[in-house]
Amino acid sequence: MNSTNALYIVATPIGNLGDISQRAIDTLNKADIIAAEDTRHSAKLLQHFGIDTRVLPYHDHSNEAQTAKWLQRLQQGENVALISDAGTPLISDPGYRLVRLAREQGIAVIPIPGACAVVAALSAAGLPSDRFSFEGFLPAKNTARFSRLDAVATDSRTLIFYESPHRIQDSITAMAEVFGPDRQVVMAREISKTYETFLSATFAELLQILDTDPNQVRGEMVVMVQGYVAPEKEGDTLSDDVEKMMAVLMDELPLKQAAAIGAKLSGEKKNRLYKWAVENKTER
Ligand code: SAM
Repeated sequence: MNSTNALYIVATPIGNLGDISQRAIDTLNKADIIAAEDTRHSAKLLQHFGIDTRVLPYHDHSNEAQTAKWLQRLQQGENVALISDAGTPLISDPGYRLVRLAREQGIAVIPIPGACAVVAALSAAGLPSDRFSFEGFLPAKNTARFSRLDAVATDSRTLIFYESPHRIQDSITAMAEVFGPDRQVVMAREISKTYETFLSATFAELLQILDTDPNQVRGEMVVMVQGYVAPEKEGDTLSDDVEKMMAVLMDELPLKQAAAIGAKLSGEKKNRLYKWAVENKTER
């Protein structure tokens, strides 16, 4: 095997062609062959950038003999660039089997990073992005869809789903049922395209928007759901430090003022501190 050859995983735009990277163009130009999810679809992109590298289809569902042929090309020293119809290959797109086999055979696998709908959507949603769970597409069948949603109903991370126009209303209805009508959701549609829209609402509000505006169920969409927040229990105790601070403030100030200053110092809710102050006033 040629020691410098590799399988390149090349991200392509998810709408705006300006989002392709120079490195992606160079890699596609230099590759011996391009493995594409849909050769006709990719032909337009390649033509736009004047890339005339040979293109052949690759599907994860192809029979094993097909995947083996791609592996053979790599083993014979060819540089193969894998692309999908849009965005990053393997992210709800084909490629996993080939990447796994290539790595098992000691062939270099090199990502050429770029557009990816899940990352673009989350980066502009205004939902917590420090921890998130990418859930891909929900199952089409109702029972399987509900059980998948049930499994993440109390996950505190932001949940991210891919969805298609013909299933969006069913999926949002199911989510509203499992997550509750008041949970916050952001639906990002047609990212980087002319009709790019971010709708931020509760599930109840979003259902109403989708019912009344047919344009909102067109195109490609990413649904992001705020993670589960456990309801505050009545009588929840405060931390020792906050209780000590409140005790000092209550010695010097009226309760309302103590709660207001305590809230500023600790980040706790003013109402919660006031309630605690009232409950603990006589004991001190
Ligand atoms: N590999 C792609 C990626 O990196 O994002 C995803 C491919 S998956 C087959 C297609 C789904 O991605 C769509 O149904 C939609 O959920 C999401 N998607 C792709 N492009 C999008 C866009 N421009 N705006 C919003 N969602 C998009």
